Amino acid sequence: MKLPPDVSAASFAAALKKFETIVGKQWVFSSDEDVALYRDAYSPLWGEPEERVASAAVAPENVEQVQAVVRAANEYRIPLYPISTGRNLGYGGAAPGYSGSVVLDLKRMNRILEINEKLAYVLVEPGVSFFDLYREIQKRGIKLWPSVPAPGWGSPIGNALEHGAGTRRDHFATHCGMEVVLPDGELLRTGMGAVPNSPLWQTYHYGFGPFIDGLFSQSNFGIVTKMGFNLNPEPEAVRTLSVSAWDYDDVVPFVDAAAYLVSTEVSKYPAGLVSPLMSGPAPDVMALMNRAGGAAASDWNQLGRDKKQALYSTNMRFCGSARIVDAQLETAREKFASIRGVTFQEGPTYRFPTDHSQVPEAVKLMFGIPSLSSFAALSMQGRIGHFFFSPSLPMNGEQVLKANRVFHEAARKLDYYWGWANMTDFFPKNYTVLKDFDVGHDPAVNRKNRDIFHQLLKVAAEHGWSEYRAPAAFQDNVMDVFSFNDHALRRFNEKIKDAIDPRGILAAGRGGIWPKHLRGKQA
Ligand code: ADP
Repeated sequence: MKLPPDVSAASFAAALKKFETIVGKQWVFSSDEDVALYRDAYSPLWGEPEERVASAAVAPENVEQVQAVVRAANEYRIPLYPISTGRNLGYGGAAPGYSGSVVLDLKRMNRILEINEKLAYVLVEPGVSFFDLYREIQKRGIKLWPSVPAPGWGSPIGNALEHGAGTRRDHFATHCGMEVVLPDGELLRTGMGAVPNSPLWQTYHYGFGPFIDGLFSQSNFGIVTKMGFNLNPEPEAVRTLSVSAWDYDDVVPFVDAAAYLVSTEVSKYPAGLVSPLMSGPAPDVMALMNRAGGAAASDWNQLGRDKKQALYSTNMRFCGSARIVDAQLETAREKFASIRGVTFQEGPTYRFPTDHSQVPEAVKLMFGIPSLSSFAALSMQGRIGHFFFSPSLPMNGEQVLKANRVFHEAARKLDYYWGWANMTDFFPKNYTVLKDFDVGHDPAVNRKNRDIFHQLLKVAAEHGWSEYRAPAAFQDNVMDVFSFNDHALRRFNEKIKDAIDPRGILAAGRGGIWPKHLRGKQA
């Protein structure tokens, strides 16, 4: 059995006994077999001494038990790592960021506390998954859609706290009100939740005074035990419009049009910016990508014409009342039509309500129906896992071209072909690049991919771009990039950490924030 660092075997055994008295013996997991289930199957450090692994896990059933576990952890100095459903694959899975931590597994806290159909919100506990929420909504015949990520098996709380996104973009931005157990075991409610018995907890997010909710995302300042989220009323219709541009230099007006449609909230679903021509390692494309000094726009245009592949494409989706959807689609057409040679392809119009059992897999997410088909696609490629290099870029065509050029050149020096990366506007006014690197069980391959990641991160920072999210193995490196004024941001985070978690028991290292006793000691 692995022990938490600096904790004796006797003390750890006493702590586990204490946890057992709080949650029941069967909800404390310490056998190698059980603890192995909390390994990150996609760890970029898989099987290496630095892989982040748990010492045990404890699964409380309610808030009082969470508080009691936290108080016991303080008493015995046991590092804790809270997870909701632990499905954060590609960004850490269920594994802690600090080896030897006890995973605080909140899966048993899986109650949907309220669904308000008229005001379109839900209040959930951490163990509620997107599937649970969807099923309950269906069971009750409520006409609301959750925003779901692909794949849809995580939880609204875990995903939002990671700054995840889904079919209706930024999940943290859709939350309203939290309940949090602080590192000393105290219970806090944010926003209107601080007003006893307020009916406004899930409808007015500021409350009064500083808006502190953000402090609990990508951080280690508390354990979220309840959180409210906005849902989307089922629309009358959904329509889709795919738009393609055929000139290399069109990227600027193309992205400007897409950004305008986001700013005016005509485009409510994330819409990718893909290059049917330039993505993928076709030999003729690679030859142009690798040409010394870069290929001319005219060469790309010629290749696109020869292969009948557009330079840029986006897939826009519109939803709402039928009249609004028609107007949105027309607005989008008009906006893109000023780009010479642009082509449009309309998809089918979907009408609601509809029989969900008949919805094709490819459009499930769009209708708020969680699906695991993206995993099936991955395993079909024979891959074990992946991690992402996922920098954010402003929604600006020049930046898109520049980033692809810069990353291509940097990767080339490491013998890795970048080419062109597709991206998505998960967050309004930003594109998130999602370049996935294989994770397997061969440390040499994983090490090489980690080296490429580190190099790309460095190059990105030189241009002011950074990751929006990262697995524990990279979180310190990512936080290093946020260095304005001698790392004022990290120093501020550390001051908060020291004040509210003086024993440093909660999620050490998460968000690049280490407790005082471990600061500077991490590799
Ligand atoms: P998912 O919803 O994808 O299963 P996870 O449960 O894996 O998400 O959570 C992702 C990360 O968010 C965790 O590794 C943890 O650091 C943090 N986290 C998740 N749930 C909580 C929570 N209830 N309180 C505090 N942090 C949490």
